[in-house]
Amino acid sequence: MKTRLLCALLALMLCAPALAEGRSREVRIVPEESARLYSALPLAGLKIGIDPGHQAHADTSKEPVAPGSAETKARVASGTRGVSTGVPEYVRVLEISLLLRDELVRLGAEVLMTRETHDVNISNVERALMMNEWGADAVVRVHLNGSTNKNAHGIGMYVRATGACAEESARLARCLLDALKSVTGAHIQSVYKRDTYTGLNWSEVPCVLAELGYMTNPEEDENTARPEYQLLLAQGVAQGICQYFETITENE
Ligand SMILES: [Zn+2]
Repeated sequence: MKTRLLCALLALMLCAPALAEGRSREVRIVPEESARLYSALPLAGLKIGIDPGHQAHADTSKEPVAPGSAETKARVASGTRGVSTGVPEYVRVLEISLLLRDELVRLGAEVLMTRETHDVNISNVERALMMNEWGADAVVRVHLNGSTNKNAHGIGMYVRATGACAEESARLARCLLDALKSVTGAHIQSVYKRDTYTGLNWSEVPCVLAELGYMTNPEEDENTARPEYQLLLAQGVAQGICQYFETITENE
């Protein structure tokens, strides 16, 4: 009887390390499994840049509007302000951008933001260079529009007319508009091609300046202040980015 008990004890001692090893082997499988699931996400392996427009204080010192250009513009303009809420553009676009970041991460993307606070001084050239150096696959510059006409409203996209990635940027802008239309139901303007934006001219990757509504229109000012609507804007942009990369894959 004593011998049997001793044998049982001995067996347990011999098995214990194996059991422990078995458990740790099981633990090692988990990251592989999650990596497999991760790669199945629509934006896995893609680097998406978000540039929340403006900052707490404008910087009116000048920088070239395009590489090699003699024409200059303010490093960072002050942006617009909510006609009804009084909230400055730089505050609201960061709120939307942070929601967009979370959406994109959830969809598997690697995300870089030019700023996550208001108290920065990063010029439009510097923001573009940051994304070029990082090698972004796509960049969305998040803005809200302003007009002297209170009735002006809707979502519009701005891309460079010529130069690096002009065609890809226009295609990305189209995808963003389509997705935003179906997700938010907002009035949709158009894709505007301009060679006047510093941040677009210095970009060497697909890059869109998204004007997600007018803060000078009371209704859109109040609407874009609502967290639920901000989430719809973020989801619309994220879906548009997914659709853009889907069309690239289909064309290959
Ligand atoms: Zn702006």
